[in-house]
Amino acid sequence: MGVVPPRQVAVLSISNYEDICATYGAEEGEAAIERLRAFAVTCGVDPGHMRRFGDDTLLLRLDALPREEFLAAIGHMTEGARELATVRTSDAPLRVRVGAMSERALRSFVNDAASDLLAYMNHVDCPAAFLAGDELDVWQSLEATGIEFLSHEQLKYLDPFTGLLKADRFFELLQDVLNNIEASKNPVSLLYMDIDDFKSYNRAFDHEAGDELLLFVAKEIAWAFPSDLAAHLSVDRFAVLTSSPDVARTFAAIHERVRGHRAAFAPEIKCGAFELVPEVTSAYVAVDCAKLACESVKGRFDIAYHNFDEDLKERLFTRRYVAHNAEQAVSGGWIKTFAQPVVDAATGAQCGFEALARWDDPDRGLLSPALFIPTLEDAHLIHKLDTCVVDDVCRYLSHCLRHGLPHVPASVNLSRLDFELCDIVSVVEESCERWGIPHSLLAVEVTESALDQHSNLRLDMGRFRDAGFEVWMDDFGCGYSSLNLLKDYEFDVLKVDMEFLRDLEENDRSKTIVASVISMAKSIGIRTLVEGVETKTQRDFLREVGCDMMQGYLFGRPEPLALVEA
Ligand code: C2E
Ligand code: MG
Ligand code: MG
Repeated sequence: MGVVPPRQVAVLSISNYEDICATYGAEEGEAAIERLRAFAVTCGVDPGHMRRFGDDTLLLRLDALPREEFLAAIGHMTEGARELATVRTSDAPLRVRVGAMSERALRSFVNDAASDLLAYMNHVDCPAAFLAGDELDVWQSLEATGIEFLSHEQLKYLDPFTGLLKADRFFELLQDVLNNIEASKNPVSLLYMDIDDFKSYNRAFDHEAGDELLLFVAKEIAWAFPSDLAAHLSVDRFAVLTSSPDVARTFAAIHERVRGHRAAFAPEIKCGAFELVPEVTSAYVAVDCAKLACESVKGRFDIAYHNFDEDLKERLFTRRYVAHNAEQAVSGGWIKTFAQPVVDAATGAQCGFEALARWDDPDRGLLSPALFIPTLEDAHLIHKLDTCVVDDVCRYLSHCLRHGLPHVPASVNLSRLDFELCDIVSVVEESCERWGIPHSLLAVEVTESALDQHSNLRLDMGRFRDAGFEVWMDDFGCGYSSLNLLKDYEFDVLKVDMEFLRDLEENDRSKTIVASVISMAKSIGIRTLVEGVETKTQRDFLREVGCDMMQGYLFGRPEPLALVEA
């Protein structure tokens, strides 16, 4: 990652503003600020780059200026500030303090750099000061102007890439705020921002372009929330803590600018907001709330911003409940295996089933995978669940085989983490061996996200296929690189994502896409299965275009796998 180009901010502050207002009235105070604005313009500052900061201060963004001009502007301001002190507004001489700082230094201050700097200047009665970040060398030439230098040990809290706060520091500060939330006068909002599908952006361009986008976003956030805490949490995730009243509008502006950054790609940034409340006492829970709000609009084209609401609160509680009880559920038999029929498209006869996990909670009843799979993945317990499901399926098939009952092959879902957390190939092989199941009766489903992240997965897929198991690609088409993966990996079956069926009946283009996917798969020797078939019209169409297998509510919902005693 590159180094941030230093960004600069200056403050112009009227240190006797309160006196002016007290003696001559508020209008005179406003007139003084207007004079200050006009003065800043004469120093080369674009009026669009000025912002009122508190009552008595203007925050100026100078990073649009080339370095030489920046230095000149600061010198000019220092000179001019002295002159301003001799100009009278009514009877009041304006006492102006000039503070300048790199934006990195600005971010390093715990509360807010501009007011800390001004407090310092007032304290030592210094008319001009410069607060440097760790890029001191850039500022050596300023020394000549007699401007005082400051540096700040808190710079260690800054992320050197973006210049924003590091995540751990942000969590500490957020915790401080939460500890004192009862005392805060204004509502405080926590924002969590995430770039949608940043991976594709990196892939579409290159890593340098990716870095550039991250820096652009960081800069936009820093500028939009100049006196707030802003942090770079991880690769493409950012957080802000602000008491600004109109965060939705401020975010809308960031969103707009980010989309315009590379118009052809229109990078999409999402934001979840959580207003701090006394009941939430942990920084991690607060960030979870904002994150959940952000996730709730991920992948949506119509909205980019969402507040944490009652609905999400319910989901969060369930997620936390699941996280707390994950071990118990997996080892205590709460995970139940359901089965959904797969039918042969040509004959309509059942030709297989997909094993789907359910969490059968003693208090809450059946929970769907969307509620517990991601949490079990986070808790690194997902391989235990998948091991249980594989074993259930083998036990069931073994029962059928031993009693001469009719049976069809099964497919099981594997998480990308299974390939990291255990030797999943051996796990599946051992289960089959224990129950005497021929490998041809079991297929494993993997999703694109698994393939995307683990290059060594190719090896395990090869091992599955060499051992006689089929490997199916699940949810084909809902990711971004499905076609590329078909080029690079060998699959036996392509499961076409049910999203394609949603508007099949009224949208001819969807029909064409589904038909082409099926014919493309056929031509490279891969069978197709379309998921989510709910209507006869869909079924007839799929039959017509040569789909091999179908699965969906039209043929049967997931039902408990008839588990039998071994
Ligand atoms: P998936 O593997 O793509 O499974 C298909 C999902 O579509 C299932 O949801 C199924 O109930 C639902 N479905 C089937 N037919 C229809 C239909 O006609 N209409 C609609 N609207 N939905 C239909 P479910 O069971 O909630 O599972 C969701 C996802 O959770 C699965 O998607 C899979 O990715 C994951 N999952 C489920 N069981 C397991 C498991 O044992 N292990 C792992 N690692 N993941 C699992
Ligand atoms: Mg599946
Ligand atoms: Mg699927």
